[in-house]
Amino acid sequence: MSVPEICQIDKLSFNDENSVELMFQLTCKQNSKPFQTGMQNVPDADIRLLLTSRAPPQSASQARLIVAYLRYANPICDHCRNKQAPRELFLCTGCCLTWYCNKECQIAHREIHQQRCGQKNGPLDEGPQKLTLLLVQKKPEAPSL
Ligand SMILES: [Zn+2]
Ligand SMILES: [Zn+2]
Repeated sequence: MSVPEICQIDKLSFNDENSVELMFQLTCKQNSKPFQTGMQNVPDADIRLLLTSRAPPQSASQARLIVAYLRYANPICDHCRNKQAPRELFLCTGCCLTWYCNKECQIAHREIHQQRCGQKNGPLDEGPQKLTLLLVQKKPEAPSL
């Protein structure tokens, strides 16, 4: 069972603005475009969930952007749920979507994570950043007349 590298987002490329433009500019040692890689690696199950939600995004590619953005704007360790600044957490370079405190947390979470790490057909996320949390909290849209 191989474990991907983990890397920190380069400090110079990060600030606290959390804008989408910033996400596209982030870099890390192993990947010059981790956010773009993360977008490509969002499993289809997440995309389907968003596209069938009450207020669906306009397209699958927009859904990819939303999923990746949420994971970068609200980083949390997928194993122990420790919430730190993204410049302190480590990103799994296998998918560029999942954060860990350190190698120990990554290895402890490996069995669960490998089902979704770079796996287009992986199961829906059930971790601390799962989309169902977001969708349940969202207020129903007012019906248009
Ligand atoms: Zn952790
Ligand atoms: Zn991964």
